[in-house]
Order: sequence, then C-alpha cells, then structure tokens
Amino acid sequence: MPIAGSFRGQSSVLKEQLSDKKRKPKCILLFSGGLDSSLAASILKNLGIEVIGVHFLNNFGSYRKRFLLENSSEDNHIKRLKELASILKIELRIIDISKEFTDILLNPKFGYGANANPCIDCKIFMLKKGKQIMEEADADFVATGEVLGQRPMSQRLDAMNIIERESGLKGRLLRPLCAKILKETDVERVGIVEREKLLNITGRGRKEQISLAKEIGIETLVPPVSDCCLLTDPKYSERVMDQIKHSQEKPEAEEFDLLMLGRHFRISEELKLIVGRNLSENNALEKFQKNKFRFETLSAKGPVGIAEGIISNEKELILCASIVFRYSDAKKIGEGEVMITKNGNYRKVVKVRPLKDNEIVRLRI
Ligand code: SF4
Repeated sequence: MPIAGSFRGQSSVLKEQLSDKKRKPKCILLFSGGLDSSLAASILKNLGIEVIGVHFLNNFGSYRKRFLLENSSEDNHIKRLKELASILKIELRIIDISKEFTDILLNPKFGYGANANPCIDCKIFMLKKGKQIMEEADADFVATGEVLGQRPMSQRLDAMNIIERESGLKGRLLRPLCAKILKETDVERVGIVEREKLLNITGRGRKEQISLAKEIGIETLVPPVSDCCLLTDPKYSERVMDQIKHSQEKPEAEEFDLLMLGRHFRISEELKLIVGRNLSENNALEKFQKNKFRFETLSAKGPVGIAEGIISNEKELILCASIVFRYSDAKKIGEGEVMITKNGNYRKVVKVRPLKDNEIVRLRI
C-alpha cells in the first residue's frame, strides 16, 4: 500500500491509526440503497475496505407513499436494503432521523433546492452522524456515493466543499465514484485507498453506473434513478410549504404523510380538505380520519374527504361537502347528499351542488 512521505494534521493521525492497528481499513458509507451508494460499497469492498453502510430513515422516502397506498409493510423497504447489503457483503445500520429532519426542513441554513429539498443541510446532518459513528466504530473515514454534477444543489463542486467542511470531515470524506476529479483526500494520501482505483464519473447521466451495476450483478436490485426523497417532487413540495406556512406548531410526521395522498384544497388559513383520487387513496385516507370531519357522497359512488384543521362555520362545512360531491359520480345530477361524520359521535347529511371548476382551481394546492 503506497504511503506518502510526510503528513500533517489529519493525515498523520490517519497514518498512525492505520499502522498502530494493523487491521483492515474500515469506513462508514452513507447508504441510500440506490445505484450510486451501492456502487460505492462495491468499489470500497474491492479495495479491501470493511464497509459499514448507514441508512437514514426520514418522513419523506417515496417508499412511505407505497406503504400508505398499498397497505404494504414498511419493512419491505428495510427487507430490500438488507438483501442488498448482504449481496454487497457490508454491515447495515438503519437510523431513524425523522424528528431531527423536521427541524432541518423548517429552518435550513443553506436554503432549499428547486423544491422543498434542503439538500445541503441534509447532507451535512447525515455526514455529521456518519462522523459520530466513524468515531464510535473506530473507522478511518466516511464515504458517499455522490457524483460531481449529478444533483443541482448538493453535488456542485462548491456545495460539496461546503458539505465536507461543515460536516467536520475535511480530508476524511471519500467520494469513490468521482474521487479522481476531486482534490486528493487524506484517506488517499496516506494510502488507505489507492486513488488510481477510484472513478471519475461526472454529470447526470447514469450509463456508466448502470453498466457497472450489471458487471457486479446488482442492476435488478437498485433503481437506476434514485427515488429516495419526495422533497424533490414539485407538487409534493408545494404542499409541504403550504403545511409549514399554516402550522402553528412543528408539524407531526402524520401531517407529512397526509400530503402524499389525494387532492388538497386550502379552504382557510386554518382548514384544508383532502379528497381521495381512487379506491386505494380513499382507503388510505380512512386511516387519518380520527378527530377529523369525514365527508362521503350518499347519492352515488364517490371519494372520501377528510378535513384537517378547524371548520369555523356552516359555510365552510358546505364548501367542503360541495368539493367532495364534485368528484363523485353524482355530480351529473346537479344536486345530491353528502354525509359528514366525526369520530362516530357527529353525523349530519347536507344537500349540495358540485363546486364550479374555476373555484376548484382557485382552492387547489
Ligand atoms: S434529496 Fe432529500 S434525502 Fe436526499 S439530500 Fe436532498 S433532502 Fe436529503
């Protein structure tokens, strides 16, 4: 293993650690379970590094939407990660950061990307956690599957430098997929990994990664395009921002889940209506009806509507009913009945007409 001649600061600490322990080098890898982090794991393993993959769970993984709609077990997501980790022969740790992540989302120091995605703050947070695990596990460095230029916010060179500095991992953060076009890290300088064996991938294309995935036989296990985070989805982000704006207190995880379902209508500063778009969304919405007004068309088949917040008067109640009625089969008959219930101790049936399309557009989030 090539060891450079003279070291200072972190490099010398790393060199000492390595020669003292005379053990296999070890790293912590941020492991989303997507294509890039899986390839990073494979590259590091081939270089003889022991890899501990760390997967962070927050409220915004797109698997949560599948979980809500298909009524499937959230464990399916974990099951797939475990399977992948076992094929890659890496240890896997899963850490729930939902609570801390909400704080990042509400107040990101480096702002948002094109949507509600606070990617720079999120990366810094995950890497700080990675650093902590690195110290506890007596590992040598932290790695990621980042590719220079792949994501517009967090994978620009200036952002990647900020992330490295702010995470406290200067010199000890390795990005194996694009390391050869980045400044040499201490990890390479002291010979823990051979720089020559790392890659120089850039940009948004995935061709190179897909062909590498085929070579190591994981192409069917990893999505070619990462679907890790709903905060990059424009429509969902609009709803997130609306929720943040109208929440008096820190939003709960359940509120973010509800944003993944149905059509949303802002009725007032304190009231929002959610209307299911199909049977699976109606079924999923039923899980959220506790302590909320629930609307259902009686005159014909139609969606379920759930009101979140405070209904201040009869006018708002009727408005919600007329929106739900608008999406039912009964809208063609001009007028029909909608049943309103709450927690089994409130029941009222109202006669409404469907809300006009221009009003629907005005209220829709
Ligand atoms: S896309 Fe989501 S999970 Fe990924 S870095 Fe950005 S905010 Fe974090």
